[in-house]
Amino acid sequence: MLSKKIQAAMAGSSAIRAMFVEGQEMAAKVGAENVYDFSLGNPATPAPVSFNQAVKDILDETDPLVIHGYMANSGYEDVREAIAQNLNQRFGTGFSARNVVMTVGAAGGLNIIFKTILDPEDEVVVFVPYFGEYKSYAANFDAMIVEVAPDYETFMPDLKDLEAKITSRTKAVIINNPNNPTGVVYGADMLKALASILEKKEQEFGTDIYLISDEPYRELVYDGAQVDFLTKYYRNTLVGYSFSKSLSLPGERIGYVVVPDEASDSADLLEGLSVSNRTLGFVNAPSLMQKAVARCVNEQTNLEFYDRNRRDLYEGLTSLGFTCVKPQGAFYLWMKSPVENEAEFVEAGKKYHIIMVKGSAFGCKGYVRLAYCVSHETVVNSLQAFAKLAEEYELK
Ligand code: PLP
Repeated sequence: MLSKKIQAAMAGSSAIRAMFVEGQEMAAKVGAENVYDFSLGNPATPAPVSFNQAVKDILDETDPLVIHGYMANSGYEDVREAIAQNLNQRFGTGFSARNVVMTVGAAGGLNIIFKTILDPEDEVVVFVPYFGEYKSYAANFDAMIVEVAPDYETFMPDLKDLEAKITSRTKAVIINNPNNPTGVVYGADMLKALASILEKKEQEFGTDIYLISDEPYRELVYDGAQVDFLTKYYRNTLVGYSFSKSLSLPGERIGYVVVPDEASDSADLLEGLSVSNRTLGFVNAPSLMQKAVARCVNEQTNLEFYDRNRRDLYEGLTSLGFTCVKPQGAFYLWMKSPVENEAEFVEAGKKYHIIMVKGSAFGCKGYVRLAYCVSHETVVNSLQAFAKLAEEYELK
């Protein structure tokens, strides 16, 4: 007999993964080139060549007992130092190895943060629409997700709603900038206003409210958009990062968490994160990957690859009559469903071999998400299929 918790998790299983599986099944039947699968955030541009070279060099140069061995649960000291120095150079921060814990991707990072700060019934505030796994991760620790509404024009969080939703049980607020699924980038004014609300509420309730900045898409920005480093606006910021998207390494499971010295209980938090890495069974982030990313902190993915997809998909879809939020970051496009029930629209898309993800998977009905981290060919070829879908809904 399965646990009640896993039964609940299985019942609410990831809509993104389900669509990905459907896309694979469809590809087996009609050929992958005839399926326009926009389901999964799996980068279609490879990791930089220098990353592969770094892996080979490390294997050649390093004692196998070291490179394949255990290390401290927070990761190799030299790797953490390299990451801290890179952040200091880029953002003018003052971190050292002490402030960094290496993690099993952003997902591992969020889980060790939650394990470290959450008690059952604690509240974690999220901005709708949000990465649906936040809910699963909070459920791992019997915590509650509290949803804050967006402004449906801009998809910026409604800060009045945020103010109303924070309670004495609010332990954390998660912000994901650039955003999955909307592609929106939050600007300095919004971030400062958010920080001042959190400070006010900390004083009002006499609590600590951690702002968890989930940043797997930090470097994926277009048209010169700026992503500020949040520790400069809010003392109690915990930063979670991943190389899954920025270096196209999602299967390698490598990322980190940063805890600034100014955060409340900073030293205890860092110790808690390290213990959580161990007790959740991650033990430590993959050792070879830690060493490899440390050599590639200045490497960049092929931003032009995503930008071309972004422009062509956005222009193609809007000219067919679809209403989309113009993405400024990440590699997702957020599109309004022409009918209220977006599940029906997603089903209709399948007739033309278009795979989209329902907005309800992100807590936001009436919209769909398209992950445009696919080949440019897929984007271009999909437009004739979208044209048929637009015709079906009489968009023009
Ligand atoms: N957070 C967000 C917003 C994401 O989109 C993802 C993955 O798509 C993750 C976290 C998890 O990333 P990782 O593969 O590094 O665990």
